[in-house]
Amino acid sequence: MSEILKLVEQHNRYRSETLNLQASENVLSPDVRTAMASDLGSRYSLVMNDHDAYGGTRYTQEILEKTMELTARVYRAKYAEVRPTGGHIASQVVLLSLMQKKGNLMSIPEKYGGYTGYQNGYLPQMFGLQNYDIPYNHETQEIDLEKTEKAMKSSSPSLLILGQSFFMRHYDLKPIRELCDKYDCILAYDGSHVMGLIAGGAFQQDALDYCDVLFGSTHKTFFGPQGGIILTNDEDLMNRFRKNLTWRTMDNFHPSRVAALGVAMEEMNNHGREYAHWVVKNSKSLGKLISEGEVKALYAPWYSETHQVALASYSLERRKLDFRRFSELLEKNRIIIDREGRVGTAEITRMGVTDMKKVADFINRAVEGQDVSKEVQEYVSGLKLSYWGEPE
Ligand SMILES: *Cc1c(COP(=O)(O)O)cnc(C)c1O
Repeated sequence: MSEILKLVEQHNRYRSETLNLQASENVLSPDVRTAMASDLGSRYSLVMNDHDAYGGTRYTQEILEKTMELTARVYRAKYAEVRPTGGHIASQVVLLSLMQKKGNLMSIPEKYGGYTGYQNGYLPQMFGLQNYDIPYNHETQEIDLEKTEKAMKSSSPSLLILGQSFFMRHYDLKPIRELCDKYDCILAYDGSHVMGLIAGGAFQQDALDYCDVLFGSTHKTFFGPQGGIILTNDEDLMNRFRKNLTWRTMDNFHPSRVAALGVAMEEMNNHGREYAHWVVKNSKSLGKLISEGEVKALYAPWYSETHQVALASYSLERRKLDFRRFSELLEKNRIIIDREGRVGTAEITRMGVTDMKKVADFINRAVEGQDVSKEVQEYVSGLKLSYWGEPE
């Protein structure tokens, strides 16, 4: 048997016996996996003007078109593009389409949870752009509008990108839109972490009412295959995005991935509301319940409006734990979180978990030095995937 396949099987077994609280991950349904593993995984398709440059694409084009249509419907957007192979690729497409060389953009600073890719050493440097910080209040998790206006006056950005990787609270979009209108700036929303919550109507439902474009990953709170989508109500913008796909940011769009996204989109269409509302409800109560023990979550009393709970590093100090050691300690107990102090509820919600007391308890007991690994394993073995297939 292949060495690699053996490792894959080991990985599968390992992850099936652990509780996954990683904020940027989710779990695929059997139907989505079927599409991912299908013959489409080794095919090409490329429509040029009125014909496909490849043969054998009789169904591929229909899958792509139907997935785009359904995506637009799920997000109540006029136009949807599903070919970007990741959230990062989608952000490249957006930057290339909306910015001129030497232009200025603004985004949430990395130290407050903004995406590292928008910091000056990464995408801005690649494309000859300059990024400036959007003034942000860490305590309230809100944009400081007054300071933002000042910053816009001095750096005249042509693009403002909202969205965070540490993402706890919605934005008040109306005044931000007004600033963008006043200073002639395009407003974009990188919803990578929250695309599933927006699809289910549980977070920032007004994103496309105020922003020119909404884009992001399809595999964080959106429970699809790894990939990216771009949504807009503006036909001209969508045409510009589409010009920056093939032969610029990518070539093959991975037809099996698009088919899998289509299946996940059907699942979202059928079950998204219930799923997304449970995700948010779960993280709110997890924040509260975890804080009743030794480990504290930030932003009491509201804790979170998303799938993420941010932990307070000071609450781990008396056990001499930083976020990395804390994560390693939890992993010994079969609980997986990232090494940055985020706890996510998207995947466990998909696995039907609603008892946040149990989860908070596992975490607090592990920190107190108890070995809960057997209990967690047993608990996980009783979980079952929810929110997929036909509605009941
Ligand atoms: C995860 C993330 C990305 C990158 O998405 P990929 O799908 O991993 O390429 C971009 N922006 C934000 C805000 C993210 O959190």
